[in-house]
Amino acid sequence: LMQLSVPLNFIGFIYREVRQGLTDIEQMFDLLDVPQEVQDAPNAKPLVVGKGTIEFRNVSFAYDPARPILKNVSFEVPAGRTVAIVGPSGAGKSTISRLLFRFYDIQGGEILVDGQNIASVEQESLRREIGMVPQDTVLFNDTIAYNIRYGRTDASEEDVRRAAELAQIGPFIERLPDGYRTMVGERGLKLSGGEKQRVAIARTILKAPPILMLDEATSALDTQTEQEIQAALDLVSRGRTTLVIAHRLSTVISADEIIVLKDGEIAERGTHGELLASNGLYASMWQRQREATEAEEKLRIAREAD
Ligand code: ADP
Ligand code: MG
Repeated sequence: LMQLSVPLNFIGFIYREVRQGLTDIEQMFDLLDVPQEVQDAPNAKPLVVGKGTIEFRNVSFAYDPARPILKNVSFEVPAGRTVAIVGPSGAGKSTISRLLFRFYDIQGGEILVDGQNIASVEQESLRREIGMVPQDTVLFNDTIAYNIRYGRTDASEEDVRRAAELAQIGPFIERLPDGYRTMVGERGLKLSGGEKQRVAIARTILKAPPILMLDEATSALDTQTEQEIQAALDLVSRGRTTLVIAHRLSTVISADEIIVLKDGEIAERGTHGELLASNGLYASMWQRQREATEAEEKLRIAREAD
């Protein structure tokens, strides 16, 4: 038995090491959600970003040909402005963010960045210009510093620290016994959804891209965390072309345009005021969220009185 257990341990060790390497790669692909089929065109050129205008022109897309997801979707995000996409779950909001990153090729229409069709530019150059804060951030099995510095690998320690401060995660990191050298990810310290998202925001602040794509976190965030994340996102999107997928409507009031997506089509569009006045889907979503917030608030007050 002794003779057997040594090689088994050894195999276990090798297995874990190999497995760990795979996890990092898998996580990277998860993080990027990269399907392998998208290829650079033979004559692809680097994307040249000036002011960073985004245009979706009659975009149609399906993951599976039998089931269209986006149907003839057109909108523009003018340079430096913020456009918000809202709508029921499954409407196709996150799909829009994946298409802007060109994780999939579209079946109809065009996606343009500063007038260049993203299907004809080098993917690497496209992804360099866009900062993505996904809904579910997957961290690398490495230190917090590594995870933040991933946004710009030549950043100094001071830059990493400043980005973390701006993302409202600095004090949290400083309180950890190993500080910025704390291991995170599956084998290290498990961070909450809100903490992981702030690490992703810090990474994006370091990257300082001209275009931002934010998929806001949905549930399970307390009001305090939500406000901290919102403050960090406001800061990073200032002066940058920003496409934001918003789950909480309170965060889109100041957007230059709000697009209401339903079943892959634009059901309504306008500013917050215009959409409330037209008394349609957005107005009813707004009403519902307000009632939910008020109910939560009443519950909290009742609990505190106990
Ligand atoms: P939202 O972000 O608005 O909730 P998504 O863009 O994530 O919606 O998804 C839109 C639709 O596409 C959903 O019905 C979803 O099930 C489907 N979908 C999303 N990702 C994939 C995928 N990789 N393969 C097949 N269907 C998908
Ligand atoms: Mg989504």
